[in-house]
Amino acid sequence: MAADVTPVRPPARSAGHIRLTSHSGGHAAMPITWGAATAAERGPVVGTTTTRGHRNVVGTHSGSYGVYRALAVAAGSLSREHRADLTNTSPTDVIGPHPQWSDPEAIVSLDPWGGTVVDVFADEIAAGYDIRPTIAVTKAHVILPEIADAIARGRLRPDGRFLLASGAALVTKAAIEPVWYLPGVARRFGCTEADLRRALFEETGGMYPELVTRSDLDVFLPPVGGQTLYVFGDAADLADPAVELTARVHDECNGSDVFGSDICTCRPYLTHAIEECILGAQRGGVGLVAYSRKEGRALGEVTKFLVYNARKRQAGGDTADQYFARTECVAGVQDMRFQELMPDVLHWLGIRKIHRLVSMSNMKYDAITGSGIDVGERVNIPDELVPPDARVEIDAKTAAGYFTPGPVPDADELKKAKGRRLDALDALGALDPLDVPNP
Ligand SMILES: [Zn+2]
Repeated sequence: MAADVTPVRPPARSAGHIRLTSHSGGHAAMPITWGAATAAERGPVVGTTTTRGHRNVVGTHSGSYGVYRALAVAAGSLSREHRADLTNTSPTDVIGPHPQWSDPEAIVSLDPWGGTVVDVFADEIAAGYDIRPTIAVTKAHVILPEIADAIARGRLRPDGRFLLASGAALVTKAAIEPVWYLPGVARRFGCTEADLRRALFEETGGMYPELVTRSDLDVFLPPVGGQTLYVFGDAADLADPAVELTARVHDECNGSDVFGSDICTCRPYLTHAIEECILGAQRGGVGLVAYSRKEGRALGEVTKFLVYNARKRQAGGDTADQYFARTECVAGVQDMRFQELMPDVLHWLGIRKIHRLVSMSNMKYDAITGSGIDVGERVNIPDELVPPDARVEIDAKTAAGYFTPGPVPDADELKKAKGRRLDALDALGALDPLDVPNP
């Protein structure tokens, strides 16, 4: 093996006292007035680890990636004094401000001003405060084989504006890190702020002592994944209820979304939504896919794969009537995505009406409409896009109340084993040729 490993410098903070954040560090921290009408009145979110006295939140930036930043510091490859040079990083599209930004109950899990800190907090940054963006907005071309296939089959037509002849769709995309206003998050979940703080403290192994020692800090940068938005058409149109909006809110499923695993409908539904978004933009509307990093119903992939095995090995085979029960056996709950926080991003975009919601989930529908956004038509996944092994999932969900324009399966139907066994052969009784080990 070549010894071309980058030499590791000594950790930047190997000497000196540990910088505790669990007690107030001074009077230089600027207050945050959540939901204030302007950025100046709201105040910046300061999660810096370098100047303790400036911090006005619990936690650090970048969600779960804060742990990798710590590794980089520990390995000596990142100076903990590093300040981002934000030259030319400003958003490609103007989002807001929208009326929802100054409603402290409409948005509780992201910082609406997080994309424009360089402008709205220019004075504070010049005064030495380390204020980092929690939102970034850019433009991209997205190229998906399903969209190329839709063009080949005549369902989509390149227009040179939203969809190129090459099959590339033109998008504006935004990345959003979580910023939680704890009193508002507690109200969404119907618990007290004290109970929420205590559970967050204890269930992260005491990772953030300020949750229980600093009741003066009510904003938390949690170590969880964020969201990515893909907008087809003009992002400014999202806030205009007169412009037809096609939207899907999609929760991460790495196995299907990226690798094409056929046990669920995640990728086919996602690409169907993108097709609908492009068609909507071409009709003069706008399309939105909001993608949340909540892998495997926010249970994580290890739990998800354990559940797959439990489903496929149970007596009677993989049946829809046991679909949720098997998850609950392993995880203790059926689902931990808790759609209560999901509508925040829609309010950040100023959305008041979704004309076509590309989702069958009653939990997503209830959360969106419950937050005051009108929903017109609900668009189900076309039957021909459901992989055979994913029939169990779809039957279980429609029986549990998911939207469907078709028949709801009855109890007998739900007991039929439809999922492939772990040792299954293909329909012709032969090993799938792709399963043959590499020579
Ligand atoms: Zn999936």
